[in-house]
Amino acid sequence: MKISKLKTLLSKTACVMLLVLIPSWSHNAAAQSKGSEIFGTYNNGCIRGAVPLNSGEHYQVLIYGEGRNYGHPSLIDFVHKLVQRSHAQGLPDLLISDMSKHYGGPFGAGSAHGSHNIGLDVDVSFDFASPRKSGVELRNPKDIFMVDTKQRPTVYFTRERAELIRLATQDPRVERIFVAPGIKRGLCELYRDSDRSWLRKVRPWFGHRAHMHVRLQCPADSPYCKKQLPPPAGDGCGEELASWFKPPKPAAGGKKTVTKPKPRVLPGQCRAVLQGR
Ligand SMILES: [Zn+2]
Repeated sequence: MKISKLKTLLSKTACVMLLVLIPSWSHNAAAQSKGSEIFGTYNNGCIRGAVPLNSGEHYQVLIYGEGRNYGHPSLIDFVHKLVQRSHAQGLPDLLISDMSKHYGGPFGAGSAHGSHNIGLDVDVSFDFASPRKSGVELRNPKDIFMVDTKQRPTVYFTRERAELIRLATQDPRVERIFVAPGIKRGLCELYRDSDRSWLRKVRPWFGHRAHMHVRLQCPADSPYCKKQLPPPAGDGCGEELASWFKPPKPAAGGKKTVTKPKPRVLPGQCRAVLQGR
């Protein structure tokens, strides 16, 4: 893929009312939200007052040593609502993967995550938590790939996983969901004869074969949370998706242009936040 195309996509992605409402949880989330504030962007920022998500009824949370199960209260609320909606639709229990660290910020060297900095991103595994996982299994998750390395559907490209992705788009706080290009292509085909407007939020991206990465929009309580542009209009099933499957064009004049990424500097407010102050 060409660098210019990557940049365009990166700048665009810089990442129904619910049937089942839980008044007590919503109330708690609203109350907790008061102490929480986000600074910066999804891939360069931090969060004060993040809340941990722990395993509960009809879902489990993967256990990572460093504690990556923190999020803005709106993200915690999103997960709970998704669990409720999925359960109401008869889907298996959900398996929740990476969110953010306690105060957000980068995951550090060696991590595959470029984002997850501000408590608004959550990875939802394409493995399910039915039957319920043991502690050992939660510490050693296995990858369930919906598409193979050539982006072709596997036996795990099932209607219930497709429905899980569709259900996640129904929350108005969800701005984008990143999945592998082959998954987006499969969804475009699967829902060819029905309403595909929800697919606007489902964005093709590298990786993301074994989980979907859900990103919420900046919440109202965080004026320093840097908003992203909304996804392009339309369901994204046409030209844009096709471009992911075309071989990259050779660079003009046969010369390779290599742009060195600039080192990231966290927003000033994050110095205090990351020290737990
Ligand atoms: Zn992710």
